[in-house]
Amino acid sequence: MNWDDTTDAASAEERLVGSVADREDQAVEAALRPKDLGEFIGQEKVREQLDLVLRAARARGATADHVLLSGAPGLGKTTLSMIIAAEMGAPIRITSGPAIQHAGDLAAILSSLQEGEVLFLDEIHRMSRPAEEMLYMAMEDFRVDVVVGKGPGATAIPLELPPFTLVGATTRAGLLPPPLRDRFGFTAHMEFYEPTELERVVHRSASLLDVEIDTDGAAEIAGRSRGTPRIANRLLRRVRDYAQVKADGIIDRDIAAAALKVYEVDARGLDRLDRAVLQALLKLFGGGPVGLSTLAVAVGEERETVEEVAEPFLVREGLLARTPRGRVATPAAWAHLGLTPPRSTAAGGGQQDLFGA
Ligand code: ADP
Repeated sequence: MNWDDTTDAASAEERLVGSVADREDQAVEAALRPKDLGEFIGQEKVREQLDLVLRAARARGATADHVLLSGAPGLGKTTLSMIIAAEMGAPIRITSGPAIQHAGDLAAILSSLQEGEVLFLDEIHRMSRPAEEMLYMAMEDFRVDVVVGKGPGATAIPLELPPFTLVGATTRAGLLPPPLRDRFGFTAHMEFYEPTELERVVHRSASLLDVEIDTDGAAEIAGRSRGTPRIANRLLRRVRDYAQVKADGIIDRDIAAAALKVYEVDARGLDRLDRAVLQALLKLFGGGPVGLSTLAVAVGEERETVEEVAEPFLVREGLLARTPRGRVATPAAWAHLGLTPPRSTAAGGGQQDLFGA
């Protein structure tokens, strides 16, 4: 495998429940990645469809169609791209949109691909416009025009490429311009994982890491992993440390809960920042509505941090709603922090209108 990677993922979001890979994740994830579709847990529909696409291509002796994978970080897009290469018996090249700022960067990668090679392009929506346009032709005709020289003397030299499979990954397929989206033969959307699936991920990783864990211990970690295998694996490593230092190394429910209490990851997977936002919303602003800037000042964070780091998960969990009049806590938020909502909320007045009830 050839890492052609300069992603800025490591610096993006270094928190225990962050879904972007940090340096430690990058170092250990290779050992935990499922190697074939049979080992890949969950995502039944995607697996079934991809299995058909790959089997058919193999039967025809052809290169697989281009594949677009969309979904949040940490759900297994890189892993699936490696599985596609493995199932096709092909080598894989890994790069990312931000690493390809010039069409020339892309031309260099494309022209060095081997026949049948899988090119994994992470964060494909962040590629530069000229590179994107070059990619259209490469995907469709396995050809690129390399422009040599500048101004009136510039000439386009056509370059034939070997057939290859592009696997593009993006957080949302809607971020891609339709002409690019249309050039993928198969598009799959990856969902967040169910707790039972994450339990299987935790058991599998524990056995690969030689860590002893019981069913309840795995369930405890899975429940706090925000639907994301990467987070499940990271929490497992932290709980393993705790179990080694404070107990006999074996993880059960009590050990997992005690360890994650130390790391301030609560029963629903909220961390210190998430809870600070909810607490400010409930205790200082009576559950809202309150403007984003005011809320950010109250927790001593940047607006963007609250909006992009804390809120998406709180909204997904049904704890916070973004309304035209500001941020509003849901009844579940009051319950989660063990607080009693003011009477108007409890009685279904005031705030209820904001949800359109
Ligand atoms: P993404 O590319 O979507 O950010 P990755 O493919 O890098 O996510 O997956 C992150 C980690 O989660 C990997 O170490 C991998 O082992 C694990 N993982 C992801 N999906 C699965 C799965 N379906 N089954 C088991 N482990 C998984």
